[in-house]
Amino acid sequence: MTSPLNPLTRFITDKANCWQLSEYLSHGGYDGLTRAMEMSADELLDSIKQSNLRGRGGAGFPTGLKWSFVPRGADAPREKYLIVNADEMEPGAFKDRWLLEQTPHQIIEGLLIGGLTLGATQGYIFLRGDYYLAEERLQQAIEECKQHQLLGRDILGRGIQGQAFNFEIHLHSSAGRYICGEETALINAMEGKRATPRAKPPFPQVVGLWGKPTIVNNVETFCNLPHIINFGSDWFKALGKGQDAGTKIFGVSGRVKRPGLWELPMGTSIREIIEHHAGGMCDGYRLKGFLPGGGSTDFLLEEHLDALMDYDEISKLGSRMGTGTIIILDDKYCPVSMVLNLVRFFAQESCGWCTPCRDGLPWAVSLLEKIERGEGEPKDIDQLEDLCDFAAPGNTFCALAPGAVEPLQSALKYFRQDFETHIKHQCCPYHDERVAKKA
Ligand code: NAD
Repeated sequence: MTSPLNPLTRFITDKANCWQLSEYLSHGGYDGLTRAMEMSADELLDSIKQSNLRGRGGAGFPTGLKWSFVPRGADAPREKYLIVNADEMEPGAFKDRWLLEQTPHQIIEGLLIGGLTLGATQGYIFLRGDYYLAEERLQQAIEECKQHQLLGRDILGRGIQGQAFNFEIHLHSSAGRYICGEETALINAMEGKRATPRAKPPFPQVVGLWGKPTIVNNVETFCNLPHIINFGSDWFKALGKGQDAGTKIFGVSGRVKRPGLWELPMGTSIREIIEHHAGGMCDGYRLKGFLPGGGSTDFLLEEHLDALMDYDEISKLGSRMGTGTIIILDDKYCPVSMVLNLVRFFAQESCGWCTPCRDGLPWAVSLLEKIERGEGEPKDIDQLEDLCDFAAPGNTFCALAPGAVEPLQSALKYFRQDFETHIKHQCCPYHDERVAKKA
């Protein structure tokens, strides 16, 4: 197999059964596992570190570095766990769903390579509760693997340094809360506890599921591992166009001609994604702004279109690449209403543990509702700004509240005039034609 430019999606073909084992094998599936079984755990970890793979769930933490925190050696706990975070609930994100439904074996292969790297024998897939098709296909894929000695005892019948490699995968469907995607809340949920985040440190890599070392990584992160091992870390690094390595599943939703998902090199420009792959804005609509990486990122503007989709590049602009799934704000959609919709979602999904999230987000919702229905006062804008400061990182246990206020604080910065027009004319100018013409 020659090294592909679209390693993650080359398995997704027009064939009706492309998620099945036979199809996966016919495209070079499980070659990464075969290769990994010839390597030592140190060599595997080194390859992952060298590849510069960064976590694809949204935070972009270096995967090899994260994995290197797992205790190893004679004194390390015998039990270690790997968890695929498939609880995709970020507004605007639907990339993991594609991978889960179309290439379940790629995720299993990534988990098996993780097992070899860290000496773990148990893997879990924590799946968003309403991803029913993904659940069905993952379950089928797990069964196929068991039948073909790709899961269970003595995988592929070949020992590693004289010892059989055993690995099991458990599928855990979430009861359906956004907060369960936060890794420590996820672990609490799996232990049957209330899904509130834990204080970090200790990080799960050291004290995780059942108190044992645990790696939690996103679906797309695990999907990259077979290819890094199969084609090498230099190949992976060279795939990126900018600073970051590999490819990424980017997406666009909103009023564009072809909303969708595409696997593209890291460092692809935002302009290329929106104008070329998504076909540009629908006729009669102009781009007013966009959230580059899902609902918990800061707005960017048309002037930022030439920026590259790399973690640090987007951070330099005051936003985050997050999940890489862009949400478009067009000129006919009210930014106050869009932000209200997002903050309302996050307020509803708060676990209620910390004050900025439990009390601050509903307060922001009530102020946004007041402005949107035409009863806003100038002081409401100041209060919204105070609430954004109140929810800043460091004031909360997890990233939910800081993420929730990112679209709000950037809307107040870039679309302030829209908030002021609502207050001045005591109505939503996007709904009231006369005001819209004057504004
Ligand atoms: P985080 O930056 O706190 O952590 C990211 C990962 O790096 C974690 O696994 C954490 O254990 C590890 N890490 C960070 N600092 C570390 C350290 N000092 N030592 C050891 N390990 C360390 O971010 P988070 O709270 O896990 O995730 C927030 C992100 O999740 C946001 O960027 C958001 O975009 C994204 N998100 C995604 C979805 C989705 O559906 N994909 C949903 C919600 C949020």
